[in-house]
Amino acid sequence: MNTCPVCLYGSLPYPPRDYHICPCCGTEFGNDDARFTHEQLREAWIAGGARWFFGRPPEHWNPWVQLLVAGYVGVSPQFEIKSLETKTSTGITTNQEFQLALVA
Ligand SMILES: [Zn+2]
Repeated sequence: MNTCPVCLYGSLPYPPRDYHICPCCGTEFGNDDARFTHEQLREAWIAGGARWFFGRPPEHWNPWVQLLVAGYVGVSPQFEIKSLETKTSTGITTNQEFQLALVA
């Protein structure tokens, strides 16, 4: 497995190059990252809500947890996870609930 240098998704099935596209953040390696730095692409992805790009996200996938676990702490100076237990009736933690935690 490979890690996306932009969104830090750790289960890329291929290396981040040769026009592969990250299913998580949608970065096309060799194209998008030729025009912008990984930091710029990451900031743009986060600013857009850090949404899953392609198809359905993995079960229990959460972008903020992904970033924090990977050691990326630049999400926001006020970033604080209020609860890791918040789940919908389907048992899946949604991005929206974590975004509420971001601004609370
Ligand atoms: Zn990515």
